[in-house]
Formats: sequence, C-alpha cells, structure tokens
Amino acid sequence: MVHRCAGFRSGRLCRVLLTVTTTHRPATDLGYLLHKHPDRVQRFSQSFGTATVLYPEATTERCTAALLLEVDPVRLARSRGRTSPDFSLGQYVNDRPYAASSLLGVAMADVFSTARAGRCASRQELADTAIPLEIGLPVLPCRGGEDFARRVFEPLGWTVQVEPIPLDERFPQWGESRYVRLRLTGVVRLADALNQLHVLLPVLDESKHYWQGPDEVDKLLRSGQGWLAEHPDATLITRRYLGRGGGLTRVALARLAELGDDVDESVEPAAEEEALQPAEKRVPLNTARHDAVHQVLLELGASSVIDLGCGPGQFLDRLVRTAAFSRVAGCDVSTRSLQIAARRLRLERMSERQADRVTLFQGALTYEDSRMSGFDAAVLMEVIEHLDPPRLGALERVVFGAARPGAVVVTTPNAEYNVRYEGLSGMRHPDHRFEWTRAEFAQWADRVAAEHGYTVRLSGIGEVDEDLGSPTQMAVLTRGESDHA
Ligand code: SAH
Repeated sequence: MVHRCAGFRSGRLCRVLLTVTTTHRPATDLGYLLHKHPDRVQRFSQSFGTATVLYPEATTERCTAALLLEVDPVRLARSRGRTSPDFSLGQYVNDRPYAASSLLGVAMADVFSTARAGRCASRQELADTAIPLEIGLPVLPCRGGEDFARRVFEPLGWTVQVEPIPLDERFPQWGESRYVRLRLTGVVRLADALNQLHVLLPVLDESKHYWQGPDEVDKLLRSGQGWLAEHPDATLITRRYLGRGGGLTRVALARLAELGDDVDESVEPAAEEEALQPAEKRVPLNTARHDAVHQVLLELGASSVIDLGCGPGQFLDRLVRTAAFSRVAGCDVSTRSLQIAARRLRLERMSERQADRVTLFQGALTYEDSRMSGFDAAVLMEVIEHLDPPRLGALERVVFGAARPGAVVVTTPNAEYNVRYEGLSGMRHPDHRFEWTRAEFAQWADRVAAEHGYTVRLSGIGEVDEDLGSPTQMAVLTRGESDHA
C-alpha cells in the first residue's frame, strides 16, 4: 500500500488512503455493505483523478477495504470552476500530495454513497446494526493535532489512536508535521462511520478545496443525521466544515437547532469566528419551542401526554422530568431515533415505578394504532412537514379521528420567516416536504378542527418579525366539550 511517500513532491499521480476493517463474522459481508465485491479491484473516475477500492484482506474473520486516490493535478485544475476563489493548485501539489484530505472525503462520499445512505438490499439488518469497525487513516492532515482528533471522534464512541508524523523521518530534529496517523476502533453502524468521516475529514483538514455552495448545508445535515446535532462540538464542527463564510454557518446552526437536537452555542468562538455570533445571545429556537409547548401542556392541565414523532427524544426527556405528567409516551417511525431516545431517557436504568410511567414505541402516524389513544394531550412538534402532503389526510384521521386526545399541540416552520435566514434558498431541512405560510397553516388547522370537533388557538414561537411573524408557528387544538370519546 502506498501511503508513506513523504518526500514525494511534484509527481502527477499521488495516492491517499483510507482503510475500513471489520471483524464482524462473516467479515466478508463488508463487501455487501460497501457494495464493492471483495474479489475485485474497482476504479471510479473522479473530477480530480481516480478512486480505487480493493481489499488487502478478505477472510471470514477479518476483512479490510482500502480506498486509494490518484489525484491528477491537471484534471483537478480543470475541474475548478470560476467559483473557486481560494483554490491554489500550487498548494495542493506541494503541500498535500499524499495526504488523506477533504478530497478523500469527497471521493468517499461518491464511491460509498449507497453505503452512506445505510441501504443494503441483501443485508439490510446488518447495515442497520453497529458492528466492530477499525478505520485507518495513515496520513491525515489534522490542524489542532492529537487533542483535536480525540475531541471530535471520542464523543462518537470511537477509541482513538493518534500518532504524530515527523516532518522528515531522517531529520527528527525538524519536529512534527501537521499530519497524523489515525486509527479509530469502535462498534458503529457502517453508514454512520462513513458519514462521520465525510464531515470530519475536511473539518480536521480545515483547508477548503471547494467553493461552498448553499447545498453544502444540505450535505452537512444529511451526513450529520443522527450524530452531529448531538455532538458536544456541533457548533465548532459546523463552522469548520462550512469555512469562514458566516452566512452558511448561521443557516446550518439554525437548521441544526430545527432538528430538535442539542447544539451547544456556548463553544468559545475563535477570533475570526466572532463575527458569526449573533449580536445578542438569543435563545435557540429549539429551546424556545420546547419551552412554549411545555408551558401549553401545563396550562391545559394534561396529566398524560404522547409525543408523536418524538425523534431522538429531547422533548420527551423534558416531559419525563415533569412530575405533573403521570403518563408519558413517545412514538416515532424511526427505530434509530427511538434507540437514541431510550438511551437519553436511561430507560433500562429507570426504577420500576418510573418505567411504568413511560412508554416508547415504534409506529407510523398514518396507520391507526390503539397505543396512541387515551391521552389528555398529544404533541406533533415539527412533524407534519415531514409527511408528503397526500399522506397528511391519513395522519389527520389517525390522530384527530381515531386517537382523539383531549388536545393536540402542533408546531411547524413558518415559511414566511425563511427570508430571514441568510443564504437559505430552499426549505430549512432536506427532509421537509412542505413549509407553510401562516395563512396556509391557519387554513389547515381550521379545517381539521372543524372536521373533527376541535377548537383552534394559533400563535408563534421565537423572535417576532413584524411583517413575517415568528420562525415557528403553533396551533393548539382542543377537543370540544361535547365529545366524550
Ligand atoms: N418531534 C421531534 C422530532 C422532529 S423530526 C422534535 O421536535 O424534536 C420529525 C420526526 O418525525 C422524525 O423523528 C421522523 O422519524 C418522524 N416521522 C416522520 N414521519 C413519520 C410518520 N409517518 N410516523 C411517525 N413518525 C414520523
């Protein structure tokens, strides 16, 4: 394997390398998960050269896939558009010919795109499962060195081994280069591992090769699904990934907060990042939303609450910690989100009495389900916009027609407010199927209420813009007195 080519300077073809190893038996199933056959050497043309996947070892006990990049400086230069202001070919050729860099992140994203999406027709269960993995990055540019590598990978459950690489092995007195040899071991879902690398390789490198377009935010959120919003350094990672353009970083942070996960806004900003900070410290929208819905539930006097589409359970956790709620349930269609929720609630470590209070179950809001019935209040927080509009009728029948809680609290983005997010051209999240204006939401809520015997109260959550309203809109639908269903 060609990876220790320090001293290699101006050659046309350069190699960089990543290895992925599993000991999950039969280890050769790695070929299915990566959609690359262990017996073959496969090449994939990239805008900047060629990516090759081959398996240096493939036995039942242990299987390793290696990704090699041959970077052709001429093709790399030609692939640059006029929109790449800070690209410097000279820097590429001289400084980083052999290193695993953001180009590796790009090639990985392409070559393993199906694996990153977590899809595997023949081994879906395995693709959904955390398996023992070892990731090897023999020459990785890492600004911030060993400590930074640990700081980003350890919270994700990896055991991190980092070895600094000397500038020149023949002259140890020259000190260390900005490259490290990194080895990650852990029990992780392969798709998560690949997505984490896709985001974190350029973050460690912190050197933009690519002009960042608005879809970079979508890419980041897609790859970050299920781990980024929960990462203690989510803010720092987002800033480094998107580079110094403050607009995109702000959009990404706003949208990460939209996802309903923790984003630590308190990370110390570097001097050059100071400008990105909002003028005054605002309450993150996600927190404001939780506060508002929590307050409504208390005012309603609900004692049993179900969180429909609870996601990874952040709000559910708040419900569980509120003594006024004697029965709390969470439901989501995503088993992965439910697993995270269960971990967050420490469900397996709860006392029996506590555990009796809490139910977590998988269910789809478009299929009638008796487990959703019998609650004083239901929450649909940032959920309806994830359904295709033709499926919304099914949700209305299931929630308002069949489950019929005493009250339903619905929140959804206010599309009018989107112009306030600098650089945001589409919707706030790639998985949103629609985002409504205040008039559209009001119309929907009025109709649903009329059809199912509820009354509606509408309001906004978050900072109010005189013309555009608030970023989040909320409807509280309360079941009519005459209904004793
Ligand atoms: N309510 C949470 C999560 C919002 S994200 C919060 O505010 O933080 C939307 C959630 O809806 C996702 O977890 C998704 O899995 C879930 N979801 C989308 N469509 C669904 C459906 N048809 N049935 C159940 N859950 C669904």
